[in-house]
Amino acid sequence: MENEKLVNENFIHRFITEDIAEGGDYAGQRVHTRFPPEPNGYLHIGHAKAVCVDFGTAEKFGGICNLRMDDTNPTKEDVEYVDAIKEDIRWLGFDWEDRFYYASDYFEQMYGYAVELIEKGLAYVCELSGEQMREYRGDLSAPATSPYRDRPIEESLDLFKRMRAGEFEDGRMTLRAKIDLASGNFAMRDPVIYRINHMSHHRTGDKWCIYPMYDFAHPIEDALEGITHSLCTLEFEAHRPLYDWVVENISAPCKPRQIEFARLGINNTVMSKRKLRQLVEENFVSGWDDPRMPTLCGMRRRGYTPEAIRSFTDQIGVSKVNSTVEYSFLEHCLRDDLNERAARAMAVLDPVKLVITNYPEDKTEEFEVENHPNHPEMGTRKVSFSRELYIESTDFMEEPFKKYQRLYPGNEVRIKSAYIVKCTGCKKDDNGKVIEVYAEYDPETRGGNTPDGRKVRGTIHWVNAKDCLNAEVRLYDNLFTVEDPDGGEKDFVEYINPESLVVLKNCKLENSLKNAKAEDRFQFMRQGYFCADNKDSSEDNLVFNRAVGLKDSFKRN
Ligand code: ATP
Ligand code: MG
Repeated sequence: MENEKLVNENFIHRFITEDIAEGGDYAGQRVHTRFPPEPNGYLHIGHAKAVCVDFGTAEKFGGICNLRMDDTNPTKEDVEYVDAIKEDIRWLGFDWEDRFYYASDYFEQMYGYAVELIEKGLAYVCELSGEQMREYRGDLSAPATSPYRDRPIEESLDLFKRMRAGEFEDGRMTLRAKIDLASGNFAMRDPVIYRINHMSHHRTGDKWCIYPMYDFAHPIEDALEGITHSLCTLEFEAHRPLYDWVVENISAPCKPRQIEFARLGINNTVMSKRKLRQLVEENFVSGWDDPRMPTLCGMRRRGYTPEAIRSFTDQIGVSKVNSTVEYSFLEHCLRDDLNERAARAMAVLDPVKLVITNYPEDKTEEFEVENHPNHPEMGTRKVSFSRELYIESTDFMEEPFKKYQRLYPGNEVRIKSAYIVKCTGCKKDDNGKVIEVYAEYDPETRGGNTPDGRKVRGTIHWVNAKDCLNAEVRLYDNLFTVEDPDGGEKDFVEYINPESLVVLKNCKLENSLKNAKAEDRFQFMRQGYFCADNKDSSEDNLVFNRAVGLKDSFKRN
């Protein structure tokens, strides 16, 4: 991966550097890119890569990047999506300033350019049905055909006008670019550039009943906005000659250059908006922002930082070959970031009571502890200690297995930052379940130090039963049990991991977390990184999401 990165990372930058240099096609021009999402869903981590490439490339060259809603399809796009897309891009840390556009604002110009093509003899109205068109498309040895190709310009102009006026039903005719019916590139075999579709559009209403096809609309949108470099994903590579043909043959104000890069795929998840929508609509997840979703709002809610996501997209680089990145690499990037920035705290997820039997009942003392072991500037906080604590139930074993170094009768353990205690026994309920653990503390070991230098192997985290907070903690795992849920024999929803969400209702948090605000992130010692839920957490109902565990499973190879 490292090598691939070195070779490929900057091919877009290399192209642009050549283009804007003296003698290049865009010599002296300011680099201008765009991010063109279709507002029919929320942005996912794949989009984040495109956002970083589009905005990041402009940034690198001191240029600018537009945000454009690619809404030429008259489907039920929703303002909810538009607002969410804006919010996600801002959250990632990018700014389109005042350059926010809708592709549908250009419908009139697009229509004008289509008329221009007809007038130049470069487009014609074709009356083949979709089925016939497939039948007549030819193959590698035979060209496509259309009996309407040579109809007089006047006739096409008239029919196109009547198409717009609504005289014909859906599918009755199309406008096709007159390019090359024998082209080895099927995208160039007189592609359809307008179709009839009697459907309201969320912004233009019923004004239009003909809509431009993506391959015709997109280059026009780019040209009208003065885009110099139109960065897109690999599936458009074969369409580049058509993109170039459109900007060459219309009287557009500029001629942008399309450069393609590989889509990002990640294992154990799905990325198509259609599938993500299905997960939401069929209630497999709680919403687009379910923390298991690969959407930006889901990842944000889970505890991802914009920095971690940007570092991830930087490190995977851009390439000309589609590939799948390990989910564990994404987690690795998050862990790297949170390790530096998340304050430490103590939380007990599966509590059992520890009673320090020789500690006075009415006494409470406080220990001042660092918020971060490497960042003194992050300050300290006070944690309180008293006779009854909660510890993790797994930190006690009545009959320890070999090498177990935590609490078992007779063993000494460090209660993190507080005292050394020696376990004296436990109490069990009728089913044999441990309900209380007993220990005695050594008053000489305040702060967890041993003045006589004796070795204490185990250190455990804890909270003070007197003032700890109750919380719900949500543990997440991969949403799918298989690496490629799209590629299996069964429908992808059949591979949903039933254990992808485990809710723990009875967790105990140290008191300082009472001030945690939505999206505050912490390292819960020995557990992982957790984030206060931005929807369900409140002062009297704390809810934390596990963003990622402590252990890094990512291996560079
Ligand atoms: P989906 O297949 O998820 O519906 P899309 O390509 O239809 O995705 P758009 O809203 O059209 O979604 O995408 C906006 C931009 O983001 C496009 O330029 C597209 O190429 C890019 N993009 C989408 N998915 C990915 C991905 N997985 N990796 C990189 N870029 C992507
Ligand atoms: Mg798309």
